Amino acid sequence: MAFGTASVRTTCPYCGVGCGVVATPDGQGGLAIAGDPAHPANFGRLCSKGAALGETLGLSTRLLHPVVDGKQVDWATALDAVASRLTEVITTHGRESVAFYLSGQLLTEDYYVANKLAKGFLGTPHVDTNSRLCMASSVAGHRRSFGADVVPGCYADLDEADLIVLVGSNAAWCHPVLFQRIVAARRARGTRLIVVDPRRTATAEEADRHLAIAPGQDTVLFAHLLTQLADTDALDRAFIETHTTGFGETLARAREIAPSLAATATRTGLSEAEVSEFVGAWRDTDKVVTVYSQGVNQSAQGTDKVTSIVACHLATGRIGKPGTGPLSFTGQPNAMGGREVGGLANMLAAHMGFAPAEVDRVRRFWNAPHIVTGEGLKAVDLFDAVADGRIKALWVMGTNPAVSLPRADAVRTALQTLDLLLVSENVVSNDTLGAGAHVRLPAAAWSEKDGTVTNSERRISRQRAVLPRPGEAKPDWWILSGVAARLGYGAAFAYTSPAAIFREHAALSGFENDGARAFDISGLADLGDEEYDALAPIQWPVPRGQREGTVRLFGAGGFVTTDGRARFVPAAMPTLAAAVSPRYPLRLNTGRIRDQWHTMTRTGLSPRLGAHRPEPFVEVHPDDVARFGLSDGGFAKVETAHGEAVLRVVATEVVRSGEIFAPIHWTAETSSHGRVGPLVAGATDPYSGQPEAKATPATMTPV
Ligand code: SF4
Repeated sequence: MAFGTASVRTTCPYCGVGCGVVATPDGQGGLAIAGDPAHPANFGRLCSKGAALGETLGLSTRLLHPVVDGKQVDWATALDAVASRLTEVITTHGRESVAFYLSGQLLTEDYYVANKLAKGFLGTPHVDTNSRLCMASSVAGHRRSFGADVVPGCYADLDEADLIVLVGSNAAWCHPVLFQRIVAARRARGTRLIVVDPRRTATAEEADRHLAIAPGQDTVLFAHLLTQLADTDALDRAFIETHTTGFGETLARAREIAPSLAATATRTGLSEAEVSEFVGAWRDTDKVVTVYSQGVNQSAQGTDKVTSIVACHLATGRIGKPGTGPLSFTGQPNAMGGREVGGLANMLAAHMGFAPAEVDRVRRFWNAPHIVTGEGLKAVDLFDAVADGRIKALWVMGTNPAVSLPRADAVRTALQTLDLLLVSENVVSNDTLGAGAHVRLPAAAWSEKDGTVTNSERRISRQRAVLPRPGEAKPDWWILSGVAARLGYGAAFAYTSPAAIFREHAALSGFENDGARAFDISGLADLGDEEYDALAPIQWPVPRGQREGTVRLFGAGGFVTTDGRARFVPAAMPTLAAAVSPRYPLRLNTGRIRDQWHTMTRTGLSPRLGAHRPEPFVEVHPDDVARFGLSDGGFAKVETAHGEAVLRVVATEVVRSGEIFAPIHWTAETSSHGRVGPLVAGATDPYSGQPEAKATPATMTPV
């Protein structure tokens, strides 16, 4: 591929908004960055992170050459080593002793090849992704409610709604361009905004109402809403009767969870007036969008929260129509693309699971010699299996689990016990590499790699290469295919371009698909290389014979269940995974800050972004600053049952008394004392396997 100075339209590599970017090379290795005015996700807008992309291209931190056992080697030697060592582990310990841990940063084509290699050819089901920490509860909620992992609506619904409810979402910082879009709608048409969040975030500051709900009690609020919709004759009975099942049982359970206004107020920590006003606003507004994000997902009962929100939309028929619907804001740039190819341990490929007919279908399509027949281990369980020796070889791609997993210190220790730790990375050092990676594989980064991503509204966009790859960095699909060839699977991995992989992925989505699978992009399976390169952003499904996307689904039913009806799902009684105690009397909430992304490997290179919040900190209510003998601006040792960190104290009424908040971004590389991952408990949601990261019992002492 020739690289010049012409502008290239690509996609931002950070959050799930998936903004279009116009990148223009300066001829000296740099890029001028602008928002793409033609991209329907952002119409030219960018947030601080996206706008600073040009400041994050430095090579000083890049891994530029393959390394095996500490020695720089050429690619042939590295790929030989990976193949022979994987073979040795499989021969000695069996196929299921191998695992992959992938990332929402990977392009769909890379994700597809990794999943195919593992689940079809190596024969291990243990393929999971850091998306498990991000939106797995939304996936599980959608699958339980709709029959498939489908987001019914789109961003344009934010423009058309009269009421937007943000639940567990600090969109102003974490999905800023969508928040700008919400603010624009408020100015243009007076859209009301209600924010449900224990913290008074920047998002809450903009809202008409901030409901500072007690941690973990979102289900109570939406259960009460469902009862009030029923009791005030605000249901869409025709939609319920024609397009759903399970309403009666779910309503009965909602009455147990929220038996009265007084009980709802007590359990949620809100006043009766706040609850009543919320119910009235939601009930009396036809065009309402309820957005949920990590505050909902990162919970041991996240799936119940999602299905409780969805239930209110199903009960009123407010779904799949302009300006209405439940809408999940995905964390990562390609969390949804990863879901599409089966990057989660409980999926196979193209939204197929492990029913015998689906396994056989994928086996035949791939001509796979070792197709897996059941679910693999989800992220937290997967790293437990590393710790107890069931997993002997792990291939980590584009993520840093020694920082981001719950009980991260235990994860780091577990990684050190592996017989084989393979890491595909952009950076030359991080906590996971430092845990003793035997093989380090330099992967191409944003601006160098080429493929597709899918954003939170099912929109597939091209991420295009605009700069040459530095050193010996290679695309992940090339690395994986090279290993596959050495294992004897060259024919099935004879890819020469991401376009060829995309065509195969699209063909699988339509293979023997009679409409039972919502994810169908077989209309794009015959794209030529030039058409693929020029592919405009498009929303799936795109069935065979179509070249137009699908903006909304389910407005007239047609859910992806065996009978075409959505399911109301009764929730369990909300309770947090671990109780506070005299030893740990506080609740630790974790999250992001405005100008950093994940472990700062890219955003940390921009001094401008670093200036926003330059060091690890903990937000503490002034009452708790006094109660724990701390001082504003001093340091606190924050402890949980799992680990400790030393953080700068920020006294603020953003958090409620009894709750503290700390951001997740700092690593052993960037702070000797500020890693928050080790503090977080590993309790997981029973359906999604997503860990609770918002309410770990904690204590503090002055330092
Ligand atoms: Fe990038 Fe997200 Fe910002 Fe858009 S909102 S520019 S996708 S970080």
